[in-house]
This record gives sequence, C-alpha cells and structure tokens, in this order.
Amino acid sequence: MQENQYDQLLKDVERIKKCSLITKQEISKSIDSVLELLVEAKHQINEPMEIEDQEVRRRKIKDSINNLDEKLREKKPLKSVIDSHKKYFQYLSKYGKNIEKIFKSDINNVFKDTLVSFEKECVNEAIAEHLLIEKKFELYENFLKETGLSHKIDKEKQNILKTIQKIFDEFQTNQLNEAIKWAQTKKEELEDLDSPLLFYLHRLQFIQNLQKGKMESIQYARKHFKDFFNQKKFADQAQQVMFYILLENGKIQDHCQLDQSYKQVEELLLDNYCKIYNLTIKSALLQCLIAGTLALPKFLKYTQISSMDEELKDYHNKNEYPIEVEIGKDFKYHSIFVCPISRDVIEPDQNPVWLTCGHVISEASMKKITASANKEKFKCPTCPKEMTARETKKIYF
Ligand SMILES: [Zn+2]
Repeated sequence: MQENQYDQLLKDVERIKKCSLITKQEISKSIDSVLELLVEAKHQINEPMEIEDQEVRRRKIKDSINNLDEKLREKKPLKSVIDSHKKYFQYLSKYGKNIEKIFKSDINNVFKDTLVSFEKECVNEAIAEHLLIEKKFELYENFLKETGLSHKIDKEKQNILKTIQKIFDEFQTNQLNEAIKWAQTKKEELEDLDSPLLFYLHRLQFIQNLQKGKMESIQYARKHFKDFFNQKKFADQAQQVMFYILLENGKIQDHCQLDQSYKQVEELLLDNYCKIYNLTIKSALLQCLIAGTLALPKFLKYTQISSMDEELKDYHNKNEYPIEVEIGKDFKYHSIFVCPISRDVIEPDQNPVWLTCGHVISEASMKKITASANKEKFKCPTCPKEMTARETKKIYF
C-alpha cells in the first residue's frame, strides 16, 4: 500500500470524526431550541391571570400552542438533524469505498502451495482442539463425529478441562472449595513443581473466614496451616497470616490486598494446572491465525515486489522466503540460532560452535573456514583470534 493512499484513509477518518462531532452538536442544538420553545409555551400557559375566565384561558392556551407549532415549523429542528446525518453517512460510505479500493490485494497470491501442504485431517484436528480449549464440549464432539474423526475424541482431556472450568467458575465468585479440593489431591505434583499454590489457597480461605468470624479462622488455621509451619519456606508467611487475626475487620480487605491476591492465585492455579496435565490453554489454531494476520502485510508487499523481480521469482520454488518477518516476542516459543556468517537458522539437531574468542558460528560455517585455511589453525571470521578446530566447543541449547 502506498503512503499517499494510507494518508487518504487517515483523512477520511478525520473527516468522519469531525462530522460526527458537528452532528452531535447539531442534534444537541436542535433539542435545546425545541426545549426552549416548549418551556416558553409552558410559561405562557401557566401565567396567572387576573380574572379567571375559562373562555379567555382556553383561547390563551390555544394561542400559545398555535404559536409553538408555528415556531417549530419555522425552525425545522428535525431537518437540520437529518441534513447533518446525511453528510455523515456520505463520508462513511466514501471511507468504505476507499478501503475497498486500497486493500484490493489478493491474498491468494501470498499462499505458496510449495511451502505449505494442507492436510485436511490435520486442519480438522486443529479446529477440534480449538473447540476443546474454548470449552465448547458438545460442538467439539459433534465436529469430530461429522468429520469422521470420532476416534480422536479425547474424553480425558475433556474431563480435565471441565474440572478447570468448574474451578474457575467458582473462582469468579471468590469461592475456593473446588480449587482447594483439587490442589489437595495434587499435593505431590505441586510440591514437585515447588509451587506455593496450596498454601496461597488456604491463606485466601483463611482471610475470607476472618471477615466472617475470628474463631472460625483460628479453627481453620489449626487444621490447615500445621503442615506449613513445619516447612521452612512457608513458616514465616504462615506466621504473618496469623497476625491478620489482630486486624480490625474493616481493614482486613485493604491490608491483605485481597483483590490482587485473587488474581495472582488464579494465574498461578492456571499455570500449575496446565503444567500438571501437560496442557496448553492457548489454541494453536488461534495463534496461527493471529500470526498469519500479523505477517500478512509483509508477505503481500513481498509478493508484489517478487512478481517484478526475476531474482526473487526463483525463490518461489524454494522452501523458504528471503525475508524476515517479525511478529513480536509473544510468538517466540523457543530460541533459535542464526549463524552470523552464513545467516542460516540452525536446525534443532545441529549445534553451533563456540570459538575460543567467545564468538559463536554454525558448524557448517566453521567447516568451510577450516577447509579453506591451508594450515591447521584458522582465524575467527569476526576477530583476529587464531585457533584449531579441536580447541572449539559445541554449544547445546
Ligand atoms: Zn572471534
């Protein structure tokens, strides 16, 4: 998309914004003027008369209403509103047309069938997985049945997700029973994760009880904090929690920063839950869609340029693009190593080489350098340091 076209769209938006403001003012002005006339008429009608003559009064009311009617006809408040609205919609429709004109790129051109082969079953599985993560259980089962993939229905995962939904539904109303029940059954796994979740949940429950009555909380603490007092990492915190008993009722909420605590515990719960069940809460399908949308403008631009450039056309049959597409760190799932010499991304089964000077290059690049050097020692491609291949070390990520 060219710069000036983009500017045109911005201008359109500005115009619409301005017009919408004027329309709003116009409507407000019209309403005010009608109100003014109504108030004036009301005053005239209610004006006290010296002689209370029904006939005179009736005539006066009639005159006032006729007068009001005449003035309203003269001012035409509705017309000015309609006129300014008309203009607003004109601008809006022009904007829509300009968008269509500018974004006419055909995204089909971007798609390289040599690079991606769509396996229908694979796509269907991804859709099903998405439905499952979105907790649309019925839809999930029906979808798999209709696509002939009934055997893929994962009852176990469904149950796991149903449980977390129940826990979080409860959590929304600050109830912790389900969460505590679950955390207690997963005590060992949580300990393996070195997670303080169970303690945090009990602490929240204790504070909740504290707001209801102190005796109840003390009993709760006796029952559930015993274990934590014996654990070094929780002992201090558990003691601190016991001091909350001394707080005045009204101050508990603020002092314990309850709202924040709920949020933190909820996040920890979700994190631990996913780790224990080896579950991902992010839908792969949605992630792909977002990544694709973010990358699309760059691919569109590349497609336009490459159609005119002979050298780039050759890339069409290759298994890669000659451009880098940055879509943000949220989409980086694992580290990659790009060799500073060959600019190649190192495959997971290869290891980069650490040179004695501290520079790191790919093994392939090092082999090329050592092969071209006619003595045992070779020079680092970045700095003047010399070394032998035996002195270098492989790096494992
Ligand atoms: Zn070096």
